[in-house]
Amino acid sequence: MAKGIVVVGAGFSGAVIARQLADAGLTMTVIESRDHVGGNCHTSRDAQTGILLHHHGPHIFHTGDRDVWNYVNRFAAFHPYRHAVRTTVAENVYSLPINLQTINQFFGTAMRSDEARAFIAAQCVDIPNPANFEEAALASIGPALYEAFFRGYTVKQWGCPPTEIPAAVFRRLPLRFNYDDSYFDHPYIGMPTDGYTALIESILDHPLITVQLGQPMTQADLATYDHTFWTGPLDGFFDHQFGRLGYRSLRFDEFRERGDWLGCAVMNFGDETVPYTRITEQKHLAPWENHDASVLYAETAIDCGPNDVPYYPTRRLDQRELLARYVEAAEATSNTTFVGRLGTYRYIDMDVTIREALDTAAAYLSATANRTCPPVFSVRPL
Ligand code: UDP
Repeated sequence: MAKGIVVVGAGFSGAVIARQLADAGLTMTVIESRDHVGGNCHTSRDAQTGILLHHHGPHIFHTGDRDVWNYVNRFAAFHPYRHAVRTTVAENVYSLPINLQTINQFFGTAMRSDEARAFIAAQCVDIPNPANFEEAALASIGPALYEAFFRGYTVKQWGCPPTEIPAAVFRRLPLRFNYDDSYFDHPYIGMPTDGYTALIESILDHPLITVQLGQPMTQADLATYDHTFWTGPLDGFFDHQFGRLGYRSLRFDEFRERGDWLGCAVMNFGDETVPYTRITEQKHLAPWENHDASVLYAETAIDCGPNDVPYYPTRRLDQRELLARYVEAAEATSNTTFVGRLGTYRYIDMDVTIREALDTAAAYLSATANRTCPPVFSVRPL
């Protein structure tokens, strides 16, 4: 007998879809293989120090989507937060994203905004349609800044030459010709005061939602439901039958100090000779709290083996054919919708994930009302 609708995975995608459909009166089951909700946004308080730990790397909520901002604020109190990142390169510390301070410090100049703009433009390589990360960087900041701040970090982060990474990854970071060093351009930026896991628990707190933790999912289990929302890896749904899509995983090496150790929340390391990409001083992600103790994570990107947690879909240009096979297989399924960063194999931020989950839930409701097929993907991966 059919059991209704199942959502596999209790990260943002799964929680928002479950909530929206429960609010519409549907009975929802959320199955999560881990022993907590929150997916890779999981936070919890350290038993020893009380510091809120971002277990899977620093997560800062930022968006230009006012509906999404209002949505998350419905479920948790948010603290205003300003994210400023530094990067260590060749024994100097610079401000990121690249701004006038970075440019003047790096080149030993005291240029005004218009001078710096012309100076950088003169260094840029003429590449009309950049086809990859490296070309996008050379076309917009030139070789010197690219070599110092992006090439080494990107090789460490992605484990391949930057020519194999999509140009869109470079465009995530703004380039500024003023002294604004805020990491994000978005108008709404904040941190859930009690962390992301508490926020997601609150989204899932509904009488029509049952959450089952620590439960792996098999295809036989899924077959007993009327519809599945799948937020796990796209290739994982098909038991990797055509081969494994590339993901990067992360290793976090924790160490403990006292006082203010790093001086900021996140320090990147651009040099390829430094094995980790960044260090996060966890308590600085909640600057309204006071802790003498400090917990830090050095973050190293690694290839994602079968037993590792996938974080970043690599979307390497040479994997497009493999991805196309999985997209085709997904489109041949019935009663399944693939959503989220892993389900659609796209490098999307939390706010985009929530927007797409809201839209997918609405599309599902309208499809069932009109007796048409629900969407296979929240957004098609290709
Ligand atoms: N990046 C870099 N140097 C840096 C920071 C970022 O080369 O100091 C590149 C790198 O390829 C990274 C991408 O820019 O994957 C996006 O950076 P972002 O900070 O958005 O990454 P996330 O926080 O999502 O890991």
